Amino acid sequence: MKEIKFVDTHCHLEDAEFDDDRSNIINRARKRGIHIITSAIEPATWQNGFSIAEEWDNVDISLGCNPVKFKYVDNAISLIKNNLQSIVAIGEVGLDYYSERNHTHRERQEEGFRKHIETAKELKVPIQVHSRSAGKAALQVLYSTDIEHVHMHAFDGKVSLARIASKEHGFYFSIPTSVVRSPQKKKLVRAIDIERLLFETDSPVLGPNREERNEPANVPIVMEEVAGILQRDEEEIRETVLENTLRLYSRIKIR
Ligand SMILES: [Zn+2]
Repeated sequence: MKEIKFVDTHCHLEDAEFDDDRSNIINRARKRGIHIITSAIEPATWQNGFSIAEEWDNVDISLGCNPVKFKYVDNAISLIKNNLQSIVAIGEVGLDYYSERNHTHRERQEEGFRKHIETAKELKVPIQVHSRSAGKAALQVLYSTDIEHVHMHAFDGKVSLARIASKEHGFYFSIPTSVVRSPQKKKLVRAIDIERLLFETDSPVLGPNREERNEPANVPIVMEEVAGILQRDEEEIRETVLENTLRLYSRIKIR
């Protein structure tokens, strides 16, 4: 790839939704200077994630265990430790209170989350955090561990909490493509310290249009929307966000 113009810091290329045309999807992003961090979080897709990142020079992998699959956390952690040279982050991991109402299961999620955090601290890699309907709880767990290199993805909690997390704790927040249709995400853009903003697509979901499959080539849409919200020049936003991304993800393979 020529030069990186954007990084889609969080998506799921190994998802079955891309089985028929994965190469086209990755190539389309590659031609637009888009580097991709794919987050493999299902035991069934971990190996595919490694293969994709190995095959493509514009793809890196983040690995972890989906919060609701907490039974497999120890498997994820051994895989991370045994393949440290191949991964750029741990995640997405965290808490999902939207999908899980059972109290005991929520406690198991937190236990798994803490194991991933300890591993990230020990290995000195960033952590990508999922916190659906659990923004406050996830931040409290993170604060209690003193972890530093944190990437909150598609944060749906209170923007006042995100403001504090970015400004006082230095946590990064990625803005997804759905910002074009989400008032909460627009507010989030204004709340986050500009030095802590990242872009993501969360493909195949969180697209600009809810009915259509999302893909990493859509990441410039986030830049356009963020520049509009902050009333800044698009190129300035692109450069700032790229700098932020490379600061956090110093392990990505193309510079
Ligand atoms: Zn995701």
